[in-house]
Amino acid sequence: MPILHPKLLENEFWYSDILLVCDNLPNVERDQVDLTSTFSRNIILKTPFVSSPMDTVTEAPMAILMALIGGIGAIHYNLSPANQAQEIKRVKRYEAAFITDPIVLNPKNTVADVLAIGQKYGFYSIPVTEKGTLNSKLLGLVTHRDIRYFETDQEQALPLSKVMTPGDKLITAQKKDTLAKNDIRTANKIIREHNLDTLPIVNDKFELVALVTDSDLRKNDVFPLATKDKNKQLKVLGAIESRLELAKKRLPLIVEAGADGVIVDASVVFAEQLKIAKYVKQKCPHLEVILGNVDSGEMVTKILEIAAKHVDGLRVGIGPGGACITQEQLGIGRAQGSAIWECHQAANHWAKKHGYKIPLIADGGVKRPSDMVKALALGADTVMMGGLLAGLEESPGEPEFDEDAGHLIKKYRGMGSAEAMAQGGAVRYRVDDAAIKVIEGKVKRVGYKGSGYVYLPHFTAALKQSIHKLGFANIPVLQQQAHIVPNHL
Ligand code: 5GP
Repeated sequence: MPILHPKLLENEFWYSDILLVCDNLPNVERDQVDLTSTFSRNIILKTPFVSSPMDTVTEAPMAILMALIGGIGAIHYNLSPANQAQEIKRVKRYEAAFITDPIVLNPKNTVADVLAIGQKYGFYSIPVTEKGTLNSKLLGLVTHRDIRYFETDQEQALPLSKVMTPGDKLITAQKKDTLAKNDIRTANKIIREHNLDTLPIVNDKFELVALVTDSDLRKNDVFPLATKDKNKQLKVLGAIESRLELAKKRLPLIVEAGADGVIVDASVVFAEQLKIAKYVKQKCPHLEVILGNVDSGEMVTKILEIAAKHVDGLRVGIGPGGACITQEQLGIGRAQGSAIWECHQAANHWAKKHGYKIPLIADGGVKRPSDMVKALALGADTVMMGGLLAGLEESPGEPEFDEDAGHLIKKYRGMGSAEAMAQGGAVRYRVDDAAIKVIEGKVKRVGYKGSGYVYLPHFTAALKQSIHKLGFANIPVLQQQAHIVPNHL
């Protein structure tokens, strides 16, 4: 059991109210820290990150990002069942071998630019297009072979037009034969037959639309932690309503699309959720069922007493979310640190009696890596995030320029905001049939952060660095031995 300073039991505490003490001599390197954790009964994640089923957070691109880095995403339900199923299929059909956002340069870029990219990302195969962007005419390809002996400043200042293999000499594949059909095998066959290291995919106007590198082997190098099912497809969850009639309509489409589990999405666990969990398990025993949200030990115990065999994971957190106003509006909820600690105690107690611990997902209020490590130390197994991910390229919606702020922003809204409720979110708060809808969420703008493939590795590195400094090698040991003290008395 972790050591919790007794003062912390006297008052409710948030993440910002606690710190973790370094009691151990670190003896593993930071990058050897293992972030493997249990998301649900049958889903293990190599990175304990989960993207929230919110309509400004998780559709296919976010779920793909999460699964590739070793986490998992849940597609929200403010979409028709058919459209939600479509998003799930996009994740399932995704083949990492198609790179749809490659780094592209223009003919005036120089050898030095390619070398800089190589040093930063570890690859030197760069397509060259007229505009230096995707969806522009392919003019050539530069590979490591073309530039490896260029050492002098003069050589490195050469424009790519002088060193690239020009477009008319390149072997390419048509989008309609490969990417459009999600057919990576054809692309791989061309690569093998011609002994290529990179295959540009073009449309009928010879514009670059994607890139395939020598395939799955390389992909496994790039995303070795990816969360995959037995068919090597990425895992993904779908959110379903906590109204049985609605859930019954959505479930068959989600199953047909290939989802690995469902989140019965509601602001608190309603009694009907337990019936839905039972229904889902009876109909589709292979699906993981996540319920929530809870914030007390009593609630965890009650749920497990009634429905343990139908529940594979619980979301913890009522009111800590960044776009949430439930605590102010309704006076319900509690400080997230205390909620996780108490739920963890109850889950442990249950585990001692029944031999199995229900995994807990810390949901809401995770803004920085320190919140993640604190959530895990308090007993959460994974962290679910909304606002932290909403500013990424992979969240739904386009970035906009905010005149006042002077930078790009993306919209982030609570599922209990008036806007999101109008599009289906009202059922999450069980006011879908009510004439008066009390708002429990707000609409916010969050800074645009660019690609999650660049941004999130900083979070995994910081999380590892923190666990490493505490002298632990993995999350289970952190959970057993963390020493948690008040940040201020
Ligand atoms: P964040 O990571 O932004 O701090 O919190 C995300 C979590 O906030 C979601 O996973 C969900 O549990 C919760 N949430 C989303 N929308 C709303 C809302 O409108 N009201 C409330 N009370 N919680 C919300």
